Amino acid sequence: MSKPESHQRLFANRIYEMGTENAFKIGPHITRLESEGHKVVRLNLGEPDFEMPFFVKEEVKRQLDLGNTRYCDPKGIVSLRQAIANQMKEMRGLSVSPEQVVVFPGGKPSIGLCMHAYCNPGDEVIYPSPGFPIYESFTLYSGAIPVPLHLSEENNFAFTAEELEQLITDKTRLIMLNFPSNPTGGVATEELLRSVAEVIKQKCSPHVRVYSDEIYEYIVFDGKKHVSIASFPGMQERTVIASGISKTFAWTGGRIGYAVLPTEEEAEVLKNLNVHYFSCVAPFSQEGARVAFEHPESKAAIARMVSIFQHRRDVIVKQINEIDGIRCKTPGGAFYLFPNIAGACEKVGALDGYNRFPDELRKQTSPSTLFQMFLLYHHHVATLDRNAFGCIGTEGQHYLRLSIASELSELEEGVRRLKGAVEDRSGFDKFMKTIARDVTCNLNWQAFLS
Ligand code: PLP
Repeated sequence: MSKPESHQRLFANRIYEMGTENAFKIGPHITRLESEGHKVVRLNLGEPDFEMPFFVKEEVKRQLDLGNTRYCDPKGIVSLRQAIANQMKEMRGLSVSPEQVVVFPGGKPSIGLCMHAYCNPGDEVIYPSPGFPIYESFTLYSGAIPVPLHLSEENNFAFTAEELEQLITDKTRLIMLNFPSNPTGGVATEELLRSVAEVIKQKCSPHVRVYSDEIYEYIVFDGKKHVSIASFPGMQERTVIASGISKTFAWTGGRIGYAVLPTEEEAEVLKNLNVHYFSCVAPFSQEGARVAFEHPESKAAIARMVSIFQHRRDVIVKQINEIDGIRCKTPGGAFYLFPNIAGACEKVGALDGYNRFPDELRKQTSPSTLFQMFLLYHHHVATLDRNAFGCIGTEGQHYLRLSIASELSELEEGVRRLKGAVEDRSGFDKFMKTIARDVTCNLNWQAFLS
């Protein structure tokens, strides 16, 4: 939203600073195309295409029948917090008290609530870019200063401890990490995390917090195991470990996430923020989440899902790399591919088209956005563009995020259409002259195009 002159302002300044999560923004475009009778291949979804485990579903139903539908502990029911503490021991070797655990309605709320808890306006937040869009957007919303830590394709979408070190200042309050990563699927090696931990211990005051978003912790490929930065000596006391059940148990509508805080004092602050925003999290969902953690069949259900994701990854990465103009790294986790489409943008004319725009228009879009919208409107494949994952300092970066949370046949159809789009220069010309004007930026592009 662009900020009007102060006398015409409806909202508080911070609302004009806020971005969004484009995964939700693209929905109306898909609906529009489908209402016109097109079959859209959806490679935009950050949601496992599996059923939630039946035993979790049964528990939720049972809880509803028991009448467990009222307010409960704003910190989270103690049995779930205990189950989370046990999981911290099993997965990360950490001793955690249930009093350090706070449950939220999803994995997302603790991102913004931690910014509220730890940052004053003017403080700095370091976050990965490309990274989950809420990191950058909420930093701006909270009045803190966003400091993107750019992940490079050459480094398999990780970064080096030296790169992080250069960004740390006296104003740094939060360092956001996310492995396995959305959108790149990058997984940090143990050596990287060890060196990052050393830099943080040397350069940051003990009050600086690492926010380690580990929501894809179980979706790691090639027999590897998730490693948390909190498991390195001296890091548990500096790290907020955040995770949730949306991805692991294919239950995005259950709205259960949680954070493990370094101290009970911090957990109490987060609990009080919960009181202000949500009162509490649905108790029947919390009981379902507890069963998800404790049920003997859970591990097998997760392993099945992960092996299907891995098979899809292997097939689709290979097919994408056969498209002239696109190259794609093999992700180590999560369920996303993040192909470089610079060659495709060049081939269809998205780079030229973008460069011909006046400055004003260029600031509001990017070649990968043009290609993304062309792919959607002309070839009916929904994806997300580079700028959906942080916008600051991304000039010259041309990527798409493809989700592999769909049946293999659907994914293969998506790749066929993607190849068709890369070869469709005349279609792109047409797109630039017609549809582009009303599907991106809500600007009248026609004025610039004619
Ligand atoms: N963190 C990351 C890195 C994510 O990718 C997501 C969802 O896509 C979330 C947090 C939010 O998860 P939830 O849907 O549980 O709020």
